[in-house]
Amino acid sequence: MIPPADTEMKKPTAPTAGGKPSKGAGTVLKTVDWGDFRDHLATADRDGHRKWIYPRKPKGRFHHARAWLSVVLLTIMFAGPFIRIDGNPLLMMNIVQRKFVILGQVFWPQDFPIFAVAMLLFLTGIVIFTTAFGRLWCGWTCPQTVLMEMVFRKIEYLIEGDAHQQRALTQAPWSAKKILKRGGKQLVFLGLSFVIGNTLLAYIIGSDELIRIITDPPSMHLKGLTFMVLFTLLFYGIFARFREQACTFICPYGRFQSALLDENSIVVAYDHKRGEGRGPLRRSETPAARKSAGQGDCVDCHQCVSVCPTGIDIRDGTQMECVNCTACIDACDTVMTKVGKPVGLIRYASLNGIERSEKLRVTPRLVGYSVVLLALISLFLYLLFTRLDVQTTLLRARGNTLFQEMPDGRLANLFTAKLVNKTHHDIPVTFKLENAPGTIKVMGNSLTIPAEKLVEVMVLIELERAEVQGGQRQLQVGVYHGDRRLELLKTVFIGPRMAPAAPQP
Ligand code: SF4
Ligand code: SF4
Repeated sequence: MIPPADTEMKKPTAPTAGGKPSKGAGTVLKTVDWGDFRDHLATADRDGHRKWIYPRKPKGRFHHARAWLSVVLLTIMFAGPFIRIDGNPLLMMNIVQRKFVILGQVFWPQDFPIFAVAMLLFLTGIVIFTTAFGRLWCGWTCPQTVLMEMVFRKIEYLIEGDAHQQRALTQAPWSAKKILKRGGKQLVFLGLSFVIGNTLLAYIIGSDELIRIITDPPSMHLKGLTFMVLFTLLFYGIFARFREQACTFICPYGRFQSALLDENSIVVAYDHKRGEGRGPLRRSETPAARKSAGQGDCVDCHQCVSVCPTGIDIRDGTQMECVNCTACIDACDTVMTKVGKPVGLIRYASLNGIERSEKLRVTPRLVGYSVVLLALISLFLYLLFTRLDVQTTLLRARGNTLFQEMPDGRLANLFTAKLVNKTHHDIPVTFKLENAPGTIKVMGNSLTIPAEKLVEVMVLIELERAEVQGGQRQLQVGVYHGDRRLELLKTVFIGPRMAPAAPQP
């Protein structure tokens, strides 16, 4: 784990806790209150009231790269439900019908083992990724960050202007201009939330069903319309009001990071060795004079704080609220360029990278996680490639006698077969007894399972009485498509227990 940032920052030349100036290098630097940033949220005042964050408009190379990546991700996100592979959507999680489609492949509840391994894989991947690269996911690809910073925030800048203009608008008395700006912004936010809510709905029920809800008379889809409204309000609440608090209070990933990060994890970090002691740059001050006065490269301009969408000061060290959005890197790089210093005072680095100039190291923990990940990937691929096109469950019919005696003297057992067709085409199937002479009949004679459907049929198995010794017989039933055996099922055939042999005289 990364040690508490405040202890890391108490270097001989840095200001000390409690706001008392240090005497490092014989120079008294600016007094900074280091002690209490962990005791309260940057987004709440001492009384616990919300402090609205007005981050300055970010710009710079990282922001530029993130903006382009966001365009790609948003395109995939909004187009996802409408992209078809073999007639199936790219991704669909229909919890109601228990039908799941990933990359055009239909998964059923019968595929639960694959799902379970996929979830473990996902979690292990997150652990490894976070251990090595910190919260790269949060800053670059998380839908919350992408939508908040690259869509809603940009619309806000467009309508209300940069941070100082937004602040001024908040403080200004209500006027036609303020009503127009604030009202217009909320309307756009609501419209966008409607689009996002519908996209989520399309991922759940499928785009065809969503279009039906929109185009049919409202009375036909009251449940669907209710969810549409609920999702719209949910996203409006998150992006218009709740904002960065979703990352700080709700998202469990942010909470995990303190357990997952170590001193070799790459995070957005302030190079305190280079930056402290901080202090404003005076016009007449030469770099040599600044150095000899024990001052570092940080000119204490607060630009890194003013762009932060979570309202924190990265110079306090790695914090739970930091979503690694890189805005402070860009802001500081601009300042460093202006004052003629090398960029990278705030940069992607590990604690050891800053303290000991170490590169990313492969730690035993990382090796351990990687082994687990590799094992899970192998298991996942095995399950995926051995996944059956047709999956059958054969169970004894409920509420029936254990066996029947047929008029020709044979014994019969009745079963229920549930067959799932996971492919995109209809599959005719037949059953065959593999290890006993006898007959197996599907009630209704022939059986074709429609594409991506589950069918339930009654199956009657008849055996000669002599085949059922001791009251039961283990059976193997093959499920065939033409000559190709799709599955081999095992079941038990029940018959009468033989009467004990009469004692010998
Ligand atoms: S500290 Fe920097 S990287 Fe972290 S959230 Fe704030 S601006 Fe983004
Ligand atoms: S932007 Fe850079 S120089 Fe300015 S306060 Fe932040 S770390 Fe210091």
